[in-house]
Amino acid sequence: MTFKDLHLINNIQQALEEEGYKSPTPIQEQAIPEILAEKDLVACAQTGTGKTAAFAIPIIQLIHQIVGSAKKTKRIRTLVITPTRELAIQIGESFDTYGKYTNIKTLVIFGGVNQVPQVDQLKKGIDVLVATPGRLLDLYKQGFIDLNHMHQLVLDEADQMLDMGFINDVKKIIKLTPDNRQTLLFSATMPLAIRELADTFLTQPKYVSV
Ligand code: AMP
Repeated sequence: MTFKDLHLINNIQQALEEEGYKSPTPIQEQAIPEILAEKDLVACAQTGTGKTAAFAIPIIQLIHQIVGSAKKTKRIRTLVITPTRELAIQIGESFDTYGKYTNIKTLVIFGGVNQVPQVDQLKKGIDVLVATPGRLLDLYKQGFIDLNHMHQLVLDEADQMLDMGFINDVKKIIKLTPDNRQTLLFSATMPLAIRELADTFLTQPKYVSV
């Protein structure tokens, strides 16, 4: 299978070619068509399987199809929640890399640093927000984050967020997002608490596993 077989737009195919990606990984083959069809998804996949690209690529395509090249006011279309700052930075870089021939703007926010530069970027308008749970809730409570126009919610490394004690924050965040969102849950393992999270907050999700 090639990326072309997945019906990716040329802007994305070009960026993937420049990264040296020859073909999709198994998780990408399974996840990309479901995400492009705007289905909810539960994906059981470890780091190293290409899972970040498995959600970043189709999300970039979905946003690009809506936003296009028009200079509309930017609003948060996608929220990615991930447990650590390292993962958040990595995910932000992936959106920038695969979306380099689109005009999608991604912002990464995490705790332990001054919030002012993050708030300044939020005020300028962004399409994709990648965040750790604590800083997201903190800036939301201060009124700097509008999630009303959000379409996709990604819960990345859900089992790690559970292990790190973020599960209640994650549930709070989900409840702040629109009911008609598309929800994608990625986890290396599927403990009961994560399956329950999926049962409660996802709508007839497709299950994929690698
Ligand atoms: P991840 O599982 O998201 O941590 O990705 C692991 C690594 O695989 C990253 O360094 C990606 O750049 C790389 N990668 C993702 N998709 C592909 C692909 N289709 N072909 C080659 N490398 C890839």
